[in-house]
Amino acid sequence: MLTALFGGTFDPIHYGHLRPALALAKEVGLNNINLLPNRIPAHKPQPEATTEQRLAMLKLAISDYSLFSIDTRELEPQLINQPSFTVDTLRAWREQNGTLSSLAFIIGQDSLLNLPTWKEWQKLLDYCHLLICKRPGYPQTTDDLQAWINQHQTKDSQALHHYPNGYIYFANTPLESISATEIRLNIDNQQCCEKLLPSKVWHYIHEHGIYNSKKC
Ligand code: ATP
Repeated sequence: MLTALFGGTFDPIHYGHLRPALALAKEVGLNNINLLPNRIPAHKPQPEATTEQRLAMLKLAISDYSLFSIDTRELEPQLINQPSFTVDTLRAWREQNGTLSSLAFIIGQDSLLNLPTWKEWQKLLDYCHLLICKRPGYPQTTDDLQAWINQHQTKDSQALHHYPNGYIYFANTPLESISATEIRLNIDNQQCCEKLLPSKVWHYIHEHGIYNSKKC
């Protein structure tokens, strides 16, 4: 069985996360995708919503999809003051699950381009495959990454099931021009963005006054 982790800040979760992940699952044959929210993102500004709110929004977002579950290991209390480094999380996953199970880590194209800033990024493939979802506005690769990608890329999704780790797979997922940043800005500017995220999440945001700097 190929386990898939999809890490993110999810501040908030939106259809730019959910739709590509749903398409990826069909394309590659994933039975389950574990959303992996971080408490403290290592490479971006700190979330506006609290950890509890982001987790509550994830639970609401996945309530209509059997594909998704939530892996809370990066929210554990012992990590309360530490940024989540993916390589550490994957190492911990391997310690629990052994070296033979197949593991995939899902990222968007923008994250791939940022990879050289991640802790021990070249070790990631020692623990997992990387599955890359398309994201509008980002090129497939950069000069820095090309040689590494050439060395590890596969176009055969079956290889992801047959080997435990080591491959990079570019998925043919739909382009979704949605970002959490845009959603937070829209809400702060009192603009509707109900179509960008599940309605249960939209209602939760309103109920709790999240992303609205003008609330008193
Ligand atoms: P922000 O706008 O706050 O930076 P975000 O919308 O990029 O957030 P994250 O939670 O940081 O969302 O993203 C988690 C993962 O999902 C990352 O690997 C990112 O590349 C991917 N992702 C986010 N939005 C999209 C999208 N529209 N299409 C494809 N991948 C996406």
